[in-house]
Amino acid sequence: MIVTLKKSCTEEQLKDLVHWVESQGLEAQVTRGNFKTIVALVGDTASLDTTLLSRLDYIASVTRIQEPYKKANRKFHQEDTVIELNNHLKIGGKNFVVMAGPCSVESEEQICTVAKRVKAAGATVLRGGAFKPRTSPYAFQGMGAEGISLLLKAKQLTGLPIVSEIMDISKLDLFADVDIIQVGARNMQNFELLKELGHCDKPILLKRGLSNTLQELLMSAEYIMAGGNERVILCERGIRTFETYTRNTLDISAIPALKELTHLPVIVDPSHASGISRLVPPLAMAATAAGADGLIVEVHNDPAKALCDGPQSLTPDEFDSLMGKVRSLLPLTQKVMEG
Ligand code: PEP
Ligand code: MN
Repeated sequence: MIVTLKKSCTEEQLKDLVHWVESQGLEAQVTRGNFKTIVALVGDTASLDTTLLSRLDYIASVTRIQEPYKKANRKFHQEDTVIELNNHLKIGGKNFVVMAGPCSVESEEQICTVAKRVKAAGATVLRGGAFKPRTSPYAFQGMGAEGISLLLKAKQLTGLPIVSEIMDISKLDLFADVDIIQVGARNMQNFELLKELGHCDKPILLKRGLSNTLQELLMSAEYIMAGGNERVILCERGIRTFETYTRNTLDISAIPALKELTHLPVIVDPSHASGISRLVPPLAMAATAAGADGLIVEVHNDPAKALCDGPQSLTPDEFDSLMGKVRSLLPLTQKVMEG
């Protein structure tokens, strides 16, 4: 971290600053130039609050030269992280994963029908929400514990591992047989939840918050990893912009940027990114071509009657056709899909 001092900074103030830096367990290297004096802070500055420094009236600017995330940082872990699920399915590296299923579990028939269809089309993970974060308290809130039981039935029927969203850590016991725990966009900065998931032994699918930067997403991953759980999968699911035609704006640049910044797998959700089912296939292909490690796609057996997110849900036939297109793109990305 580099601290640039104002011309008006006195020797006394500089001495105070150096003492304070040293009291934080860091080294202060002072360089005096003709026009400005800078102080380089050497050591682990990750937990240092830069606003404490920038508020001092003799300091002109504070610039971080090292990212505050360490465990998620590719600089300290060059190899791609590959997350192994149930000793066979690999996520990350050369492996391309497709997770698919309804926004919400609605009934046994619905989840089992969709599970069979997405499996036949080539998906290797079944998605389904049991606890739903809805904007309106009057909207369908998910089936809760019963929804998880129905997902487990679909898992047993098809052999597909399952991913489902947790909203409250008090429900963790219900997720004992869920293979991947999802943290939704609205909870990306629920730090208490992230800390608790840091102690859990399951992979976490961490979705980017509606208005969060890539660094904030990586800091949230860091929360989970700092607790000991390094199996984090990042998900770009569109962000808020001034555009209102689509539900969100898919940030395609997030894919190559995250691949540079972190070793963690990066998957893309084209369903929540667009909110419009006919836009899902082109966005899914763009994400695949940009180097994503996989996709998570909403599929419903009868989108018109879905209790949640019908307009963005593909029918099983549409999903099948999308899978064909994604498969044909994969050789260009040097990734392989299981099955
Ligand atoms: C979901 O995956 O069903 C969901 C609610 O997504 P997000 O958190 O990205 O809005
Ligand atoms: Mn949804």
